[in-house]
Amino acid sequence: MALIDGTSRLLIDGKLTSGGAGGFATVNPATEEVLGEAANADAADMDRAIDAARRAFDDTDWSTNTELRVRCIRQLRDVLREHVEELRELTIAEVGAPRMLTAGAQLEGPIADLGFAADTAESYEWTQDLGHATPLGIPTRRSVVREAVGVVGAITPWNFPHQINLAKLGPALAAGNTIVLKPAPDTPWVAAVLGDLIAEHTDIPPGVVNIVTSTDHTLGAMLAGDPRVDMVSFTGSTATGRSVMADAAATIKKVFLELGGKSAFVVLDDADLAGACSVAGFSVCLHAGQGCAITTRLVVPRARYDEAVAIAAGTMGSIKPGDPTKPGTVCGPVISARQRDRVQSYLDLALAEGGEFACGGGRPADQPAGFFIEPTVIAGLTNDARVAREEIFGPVLTVIAHDGDDDAVRIANDSPYGLSATVYGADADRAARVAARLRAGTVNVNGGVWYSADMPFGGYKQSGNGREMGVAGFEEYLEIKAIATAAN
Ligand code: NAD
Repeated sequence: MALIDGTSRLLIDGKLTSGGAGGFATVNPATEEVLGEAANADAADMDRAIDAARRAFDDTDWSTNTELRVRCIRQLRDVLREHVEELRELTIAEVGAPRMLTAGAQLEGPIADLGFAADTAESYEWTQDLGHATPLGIPTRRSVVREAVGVVGAITPWNFPHQINLAKLGPALAAGNTIVLKPAPDTPWVAAVLGDLIAEHTDIPPGVVNIVTSTDHTLGAMLAGDPRVDMVSFTGSTATGRSVMADAAATIKKVFLELGGKSAFVVLDDADLAGACSVAGFSVCLHAGQGCAITTRLVVPRARYDEAVAIAAGTMGSIKPGDPTKPGTVCGPVISARQRDRVQSYLDLALAEGGEFACGGGRPADQPAGFFIEPTVIAGLTNDARVAREEIFGPVLTVIAHDGDDDAVRIANDSPYGLSATVYGADADRAARVAARLRAGTVNVNGGVWYSADMPFGGYKQSGNGREMGVAGFEEYLEIKAIATAAN
């Protein structure tokens, strides 16, 4: 892989190339050391990438040759598996992902999930025969055909980059599309390495996958606006999602959005409070809270509020942010100085809003380098506080009191977001009734896990449009054509 020499390249039209704007540094967030350089694409590179994807879609049999696509996706999965140990070290170094998470959603999970995309394409009912009918009195034979949307522009963030890059690449390719992937500038190498492996170890034809790393955010806007792009698949913040949607409007392209969240962890009054609040505290520390679906509002019975705060603080106070290379580390660094300062500004805001810290509240004294934040429990605020309404994207939990099930549902749903939720309660039927009332795309009841290749993932309200993963995620990348043939 090219990364061995400390540089990375773009993949455009089947060729690995340098960037028109030179290179930019990629940094280890745990040490602040420069790992090396990534190719920095300019607008001309993006233009060539879009052009290549367009030609690969229009002029080759990629979109109709399901057998080729299935074989290529399995090849990609297999070559990623062959290189998994190098990829693991790269992911820990560039993303700051704790080693333990690379066994799941940070690396091995999304590689395995490519198999689901290939299997789905192989078994999918591409043509559905609706049989004969006589609409308006005319005998007609009807069928419904599913086919690829066309050129997909995929724009991704830095927090779970393999998961998000591959959860777009796999289904988009399986459905027959060609793609231009523009990853986040904070994690260029984990995307660029895909380009190397695709070019050197798969039969994916030139132009079918293009990977364009850049510090220039306007290249993302270019993808969203370009008339040669048929669909934009975006994961990132709600603010940027809004801008992508606006840029896509001029060409009425299909827009698929996975955005932010401020998800609630609801503890009912019959729940095991200690167990539930420990789980809530632990899960907000995973990858330093940089997960869009992490439950960052802990909604607990008012009568046991102080106890709940103490339990969550006991758990989170015992989790020391540190070296992500170590197998026992749960909470590594956040991605950048900018992100650390953003999280710190929310901690300052929590105090200004009248909240207090039950643990944490700043940068750990024992980590002189790296972008670390202490796991922090904010207490004493209501759901109206900005720290309870806005996405912080750090290891920060805000604890809010509720006055019974109806009030808990009201608080959980009182958010501009609707990505995920958790309910804990001793009575499973009652917990299920509460879960059913939550306006969120995924709900965990008493510790169930919704993350898997065949489960759709996505948000209500301002958390997005559409679903990633599962058959629903595959179908996002399809058009539907109804064919009516006059029958004699
Ligand atoms: P971001 O919105 O700043 O950037 C995401 C991507 O968009 C990057 O590749 C960036 O270069 C690009 N971009 C920036 N401005 C653009 C523009 N005007 N037009 C087109 N593209 C543009 O997000 P981030 O800071 O990289 O990631 C963190 C955010 O992502 C959080 O809000 C988090 O909740 C969200 N996220 C959501 C999900 C989900 O599935 N719902 C998953 C992971 C992250």
